[in-house]
Amino acid sequence: MEKHEVGHSATGDRESAPFVVTRRRREVLNHFGSCPACGYATQAFLVTTSYADGRTVVTSQGTCGLPCGWSGVIEIEKMTAGRRRG
Ligand SMILES: [Zn+2]
Repeated sequence: MEKHEVGHSATGDRESAPFVVTRRRREVLNHFGSCPACGYATQAFLVTTSYADGRTVVTSQGTCGLPCGWSGVIEIEKMTAGRRRG
């Protein structure tokens, strides 16, 4: 027999967003990408954000080289001749 339990609604602690301590933006020089909006070459940045709780999040951000207004999260593709550990 199966018994279905109706989940009790979680009364929320609202997690407040952690404070940003530092945010650094570094240009990725060997990135070659194109703007999804207009096709022009984009600049890529690695944005390193450190939070007060000790976490560090690195995101990649792209901005269009032309003033079409586009910017967004991109995947940075660069030439890596790395070894793979497996
Ligand atoms: Zn563009």
